[in-house]
Amino acid sequence: MATDSDADAIVGEIKGAFATCGHLDYGENINMQEHMLQTACLAESEGADDRLIVAALLHDYGHLICNMPNNTFAAGADNYHERIGAEAMSGWFDEDIVNAVRMHVDAKRYLCARNPKYMENLSAASRLTLAVQGGPMNEKEMREFEHNKGHRMALRVRIYDDLGKRSAMKRPELDHYLPKIRACLRSH
Ligand code: FE
Repeated sequence: MATDSDADAIVGEIKGAFATCGHLDYGENINMQEHMLQTACLAESEGADDRLIVAALLHDYGHLICNMPNNTFAAGADNYHERIGAEAMSGWFDEDIVNAVRMHVDAKRYLCARNPKYMENLSAASRLTLAVQGGPMNEKEMREFEHNKGHRMALRVRIYDDLGKRSAMKRPELDHYLPKIRACLRSH
């Protein structure tokens, strides 16, 4: 565990990012905060452990802090939110959580290559962003992805990510997840 004051500062930073940017639109039918909370709720309802729940909750943290206009994707540019989020969290959580966040876009590219049905079922926004994120993986990229030991956790986050886009869903608020975030913090 981080010291209490470290943990308070990190939790404060996360709460601040949700409060400041959680309401923003990112091209889906719901705002970012709603999507991230739904993704975490789906992980928890399937019995995921705290680390997977925290990765699911924070997988789009980079969107909250990337400071790029909402229409970045529509303009054909990538905001690299998965890397920005992973960088921000790299001192906070262990490698598995950080890698799951970093690899959740690669997981989409992998699943699109493996299963055309998966691509058909993606949300319109997710299909649009796929193009600027590099499109479905080629064979070489798929092998590399499978060799990364974090790929299974990233795939699980991705599945919850794709499902967490419901117009309405009964789910806990951010406060519910704060003890889980604290429990997952690295020792400093
Ligand atoms: Fe997402």
